[in-house]
Amino acid sequence: MTDSAPSAADLTLYDPFDGMRFGLEACFLCGTPTTPPQDTVPVFADWLMDRYQLRERPIKLLDMRIVTYPELRIACCARCRTRHVEPLEAHLEAISRQGVRGFRELDEQTLFLWLGKMFYGILVTELINQQDPLAVPQYPLAENAQMLRRFQAFFQPLQALRVPMEYDDFVPGSVFILETDSAQDDMEFEYDDDLSTLTFSIKLDETVLVACLVDNGIIGRAMGRVYQQARRPLHPVQAAEFKARIYYAAYLLNVVPDYFARPVKPHDQEVVLDSLIDDVTGSIFNPWDNSAYAQSLLEMWKRWQIPLSDILADPALPLSYLHDANGQPRHLERYPATDEE
Ligand SMILES: [Zn+2]
Repeated sequence: MTDSAPSAADLTLYDPFDGMRFGLEACFLCGTPTTPPQDTVPVFADWLMDRYQLRERPIKLLDMRIVTYPELRIACCARCRTRHVEPLEAHLEAISRQGVRGFRELDEQTLFLWLGKMFYGILVTELINQQDPLAVPQYPLAENAQMLRRFQAFFQPLQALRVPMEYDDFVPGSVFILETDSAQDDMEFEYDDDLSTLTFSIKLDETVLVACLVDNGIIGRAMGRVYQQARRPLHPVQAAEFKARIYYAAYLLNVVPDYFARPVKPHDQEVVLDSLIDDVTGSIFNPWDNSAYAQSLLEMWKRWQIPLSDILADPALPLSYLHDANGQPRHLERYPATDEE
């Protein structure tokens, strides 16, 4: 993002896992010592909080503690803030004004980094929170070895936020861009996540972004046909179903990518990151189980209070508003659908 050639320091990666430096005392991107509260950036950018009136809005953490959106902040030095984070947020604010089209035309790396920054902020907030001995988390994250491995992997491509970086022949995550039918939609902002699989979703007006941030695009490829069929204005109940599929697929994903930065040579302009997936030892996905998938649907459909007995009325074919019984895209004018008994 700078005009001058990058220095060696600019191309040096940072490893916060060395000593687990995730607190407010070290910049999340470069590790420079920081002084809170001035050396911080909001997890949800000011423009998001202003546009969607998030400043008073509560968000519930895993330990059931309630915080407000503006309280979610991560350590960021002045240099990283002004050179990297703020320009990215300004860019995304402009993109978001173009709606779904803007997001679809945006390059994949920029979108990954923007989503990644938010997700990183939430994850780190939860991690720090759990170091508080008073907290009794429902799911102790730091004890979840698989989650930490995913988080560690995710942080490598995320460093492109500061370090000029090329991903050699891979995309680090799967990002889906959905559009809701504004005539059927009354939620302008929504956020949810599954920290253990690094999956999350954010809704800005009619744009619903769903991402698994550490799958090297595997879920995107596996869901290619479903995604193609979902590229139409969806009823929110359909968008929620799509999310249930992605969250469940991320849960089934059995591999964690490894990333390797190539050694930097003099005069290099960027770091090249290679990726490897070790799938020799097992399958990429654990087997799909409809009763477990139904739980994911139940969660995503909470707003509509669709009971599990309806979802699993046919245990072999869980309820779908995206597809009909023949697997063809279903058009849903309104919910409840008028063609139902
Ligand atoms: Zn920094």
